[in-house]
Amino acid sequence: MVPISFGREMGNELVVYGWDNLSTNDGPGVRFALYLKGCSLNCPWCLNPYLQKVEPEIRWKSETCVCDDLCIDSCKYGALQRENEHIVIDYNNCNFCGSCWNSCTTNSLKPVGEYISIDRIVSIVIQETVPQVPPRKVTIGGGEPLLQGEATINLIHRFKEEGIEVYLTTCAGITDRDVWARAIDLVDGVLLHILTVDESEWRELGGMSYESFLRNVYHLKVSSKPVCIRMPVIPGYTDSIQKVRSLLGFVKENIPLVLEMDLRVYTPNSRFSSPMFKLKEKTLTTEQILELCEAIKKLGIEKVHWRGSARKITEYHKMNGKD
Ligand code: SF4
Ligand code: SF4
Repeated sequence: MVPISFGREMGNELVVYGWDNLSTNDGPGVRFALYLKGCSLNCPWCLNPYLQKVEPEIRWKSETCVCDDLCIDSCKYGALQRENEHIVIDYNNCNFCGSCWNSCTTNSLKPVGEYISIDRIVSIVIQETVPQVPPRKVTIGGGEPLLQGEATINLIHRFKEEGIEVYLTTCAGITDRDVWARAIDLVDGVLLHILTVDESEWRELGGMSYESFLRNVYHLKVSSKPVCIRMPVIPGYTDSIQKVRSLLGFVKENIPLVLEMDLRVYTPNSRFSSPMFKLKEKTLTTEQILELCEAIKKLGIEKVHWRGSARKITEYHKMNGKD
């Protein structure tokens, strides 16, 4: 048996969830967005639970599984079992050999996340980006990319050596202050994901240290790096004007250079919506979202976007004359 971490070169490779080489949603301009695995938040509405653990995983889709157990038969390491009609994976025995997902005829098993060396990531970015206006632009996000600590910092260093502009998406919740300070000092800008600025809500919803958050935001303030604010808009939790107002008060006091604000509007029918999470309120209407955007502009942030599948639905209705 070979555990997955055996022989890994710590600090020289990262667990990558995926990437988008033409992202317009991850900071200024067209950017290569790299998504690392692992998240320090614990949001009940998590849209992608497979981002939470740093380690690679195998995704099993019950809806398409035909229960022929070809995967179990193909595993030489005894890492798969069927329990109550579910395929259960024992990661202590799995070495990600790939036999199971390759033997599945219905694509019901798929690997999620893989170790990729820093050299390889840099060469992928260089191959897959041809900037009209240099420099190449990258955003490292996740999850929380700083959970992969030293390796993420090494990657930022390598990007900078190649003359690549680097933004970091983060929720500022990591407890390792040294990793935070070095990363912030290296990057060109930050996409700061803020759930709430209320201490008790922070603990309840985020499950993280509020003290670390405040300390990290203070370092960001001192660094004077440009920041884009991202706020998840969750009906019944974070969607009131009052909450937006208190968040903006915090932002104004603590972040000197805010480039834009990006509202991520939650819709319960998106592909990865957590079945465990039930909204307290109905999803916001387009009018309510636009009202929220206007309120933010009045509070002093000129550039406000809103995104999420709610926006796609609105645009679809507009195209079809229903809005
Ligand atoms: S990848 Fe699949 S087949 Fe290979 S060890 Fe893991 S569970 Fe078994
Ligand atoms: S091989 Fe695929 S379809 Fe068959 S039991 Fe395994 S996951 Fe299900």
